[in-house]
Amino acid sequence: MSYDRLWAPWRLAYIADKEQKTIGGEPALALRTPRQPPPGACFLCHYLAEDAAFDRDNLVLRRADRTVVVLNRYPYNNGHLLVAPKAHKAALGDLDHDELLECQTLLVELTALLERAFKAQGFNIGLNLGAIAGAGLPGHLHWHLVPRWSGDTNFMPVVAATHILPQALEAAYDILHTAWNE
Ligand SMILES: [Zn+2]
Repeated sequence: MSYDRLWAPWRLAYIADKEQKTIGGEPALALRTPRQPPPGACFLCHYLAEDAAFDRDNLVLRRADRTVVVLNRYPYNNGHLLVAPKAHKAALGDLDHDELLECQTLLVELTALLERAFKAQGFNIGLNLGAIAGAGLPGHLHWHLVPRWSGDTNFMPVVAATHILPQALEAAYDILHTAWNE
């Protein structure tokens, strides 16, 4: 998908986080991570099993009836959201009608939210089905919703990004959480 080509310097934090390093003396990620999923575990199921009191730390934006909305911890762009069924299902054909409908309804609602809260100008929406298609979590399907802005691939210098990004996830979560609940 085209968002694979986006320049996303904060994915450096993903690398640094995995190696327990810091960026420029700051923690690689400012968010508290109370109980990160064990290696190889499904992070969506792990976050859903957590107490809802940890939802902000886990970037869980909403627990709907059949689905969950999570801010991607390693985004391709600011406000990159994941919409997934709560059930651990890998194939589209495994989703029942209610799960499908709620996922699609949320995608519609979230594009409007990102337009309103972040002034998003366009979107990439898609699924990576199966590891061969680039799914980082092949067992639990999830839609990616990536907001786009004119010039978003090249406007931010690397130096600025390394200072902005430790706060970017928390800030994005709080803005979206507030705007969605208004
Ligand atoms: Zn799962």
